[in-house]
Amino acid sequence: MANSLIGRDMAVDLGTANTLVYVRGRGVVLDEPSVVAVNESTGEVLAVGHEAKQMTGRTPGPISVVRPLRDGVIADFEATEQMLRFFIAQIHRRRYLAKPRLVICVPSGITAVEQRAVKEVGYLAGARRVSVIEEPMAAAIGAGLPVHEATGNMIVDIGGGTTEVAVISLGGIVASTSVRTAGDDLDQAILGWFKKEHSLMLGESTAEQLKIAVGSAWPRLAEPDADVRGRDLVSGLPRTVVVSSAEVRRALDDPLNAIVDAVRETLDQTPPELVGDIVDRGMVVTGGGALLAGLGERLGDETGMPVHVADHPLTSVVVGAGRCVEEYDALQQVLVADRRRSA
Ligand code: ADP
Ligand code: MG
Repeated sequence: MANSLIGRDMAVDLGTANTLVYVRGRGVVLDEPSVVAVNESTGEVLAVGHEAKQMTGRTPGPISVVRPLRDGVIADFEATEQMLRFFIAQIHRRRYLAKPRLVICVPSGITAVEQRAVKEVGYLAGARRVSVIEEPMAAAIGAGLPVHEATGNMIVDIGGGTTEVAVISLGGIVASTSVRTAGDDLDQAILGWFKKEHSLMLGESTAEQLKIAVGSAWPRLAEPDADVRGRDLVSGLPRTVVVSSAEVRRALDDPLNAIVDAVRETLDQTPPELVGDIVDRGMVVTGGGALLAGLGERLGDETGMPVHVADHPLTSVVVGAGRCVEEYDALQQVLVADRRRSA
């Protein structure tokens, strides 16, 4: 009871594609696309999350649908703040008290300025205290890796806008790489392929659906064909093309190689003892991109290391940050804390 008086502490995975919120004692209470629909002429926010994502590519003139974190940084500060505020308000409506302590996950590659911007968003959204945790650390904790042990834990988090690769030992990040190639680039590669090879213009969500339905990083036992509908670039009329799984895989080749390179680069920076641990225990792949069929096989083949795909790739970051909220004191070590300066 006394606990409820100080408000429910929460962890927020402010992802480039999806925002998830974990509330202390409750678990994951919110999971929505990081999307905001705004009326450009009035600045009014019309919809957030699922509702806004459904509007993508279907809005009339003055309305635009934005993904404020698209490339892994806060590109649109105001929209990010509004989105977070909206999500937190939604949780409050479910009768948790205001002024929570917040743990926000940030990409490991962000600058001090960007980190401050993320915290500011948390304070503006009504938090009493904001701490940040690096996403790979949260992902590793969420995937159940023994991050506090003296052993090399390698985590590869393939999100929408960024891929984060890190090696963690004794509660700290020993080596890390963050590249802006991830799920969105796979979608873009599909768009580019269809434009070039078939003179066909696809919508972004069509490309994403195709990736999820038949995309792969490595040959599969079942390789279905897919019907793809788009607009003919010459006639301007709708046209349907039948593609094989193998063709879609070829379309994904470049961004997949960039992701593999990020893993190789991180291994290069890693001290030999820790590489030895990873050879023995393997790396864990997480984030929505880990769900791409055959991704584990591709990474395993290219690096020669064992690869495990996390059990719940879309939630491991928020669950890991949630553990920090549950055991706030025990896990302080992995947070980068900071009090709000009074104005
Ligand atoms: P972020 O943390 O950046 O918000 P997520 O970890 O939520 O990103 O992952 C989102 C990405 O995962 C999107 O690019 C989405 O298309 C991709 N994704 C989700 N499910 C699948 C799937 N089954 N196969 C391939 N990609 C997927
Ligand atoms: Mg993420």
